[in-house]
Amino acid sequence: MVTRKPLVALLSGAGVSTDSGIPDYRGPQGLWRRDPEAEKLVTYDVYMSDPEIRRRSWRMRRDSPTWQARPNAAHEAIVGLERAGVPVRVITQNVDGLHQRAGLTPRKVLELHGSARSVVCTGCGERGPMDEALERVASGEEDPDCRGCGGILKSATVMFGERLDPAVLGEAVAVAKGCDVFIAVGTSLQVQPAASLVGLAAEHGARLLIVNAEPTPYDGLAERVIREPIGTALPALLSTFTP
Ligand code: ZN
Repeated sequence: MVTRKPLVALLSGAGVSTDSGIPDYRGPQGLWRRDPEAEKLVTYDVYMSDPEIRRRSWRMRRDSPTWQARPNAAHEAIVGLERAGVPVRVITQNVDGLHQRAGLTPRKVLELHGSARSVVCTGCGERGPMDEALERVASGEEDPDCRGCGGILKSATVMFGERLDPAVLGEAVAVAKGCDVFIAVGTSLQVQPAASLVGLAAEHGARLLIVNAEPTPYDGLAERVIREPIGTALPALLSTFTP
């Protein structure tokens, strides 16, 4: 008889990166909710139609705490799980790329909201590194355009008014349906369709574990809800899955 190792899926939200110094912009108390002017910077139609908003967006990207941020104990614990031979997939609402920076195999990370480390052209779809675009900003281009087609460049993150990449979402749905354990960590589970992955995993028989400071709408479905700080709670929880 062949026994399959249980697949552990994690859905990670902003709470996983706050220990790395990246604030939760989207959360209930986040910048995007409190400040309508700030929300314009990440709203697709406004970004496309207003050059001043784009200039402000590039300054905000330039000054983002993401570039100084280092992976923390939570990111490292997930890498430890992979290195121990446990099949693991991470579905993340974060755009900071810190799971990969920590050393997790990139194809095992599904970035539902895209990546702040890349830019994409809204005209031709060409992608490139954010680093290069920010170098152009530093050398005086206030709104760098696509070098290929002259189109408007943006961060390769999902803005308000944009839909999620259907291929990434499709993979995330398959992971939620196929995993044995589903751990939602650092996410208030308020943003759809990310949150609905939790319900899907539970429906398909996964053990559901939630690590989050605040209550979530899915707590009632969970086998265990942990309210301790993520930096200590997640390593402790994941150590129970290593052989
Ligand atoms: Zn282009």
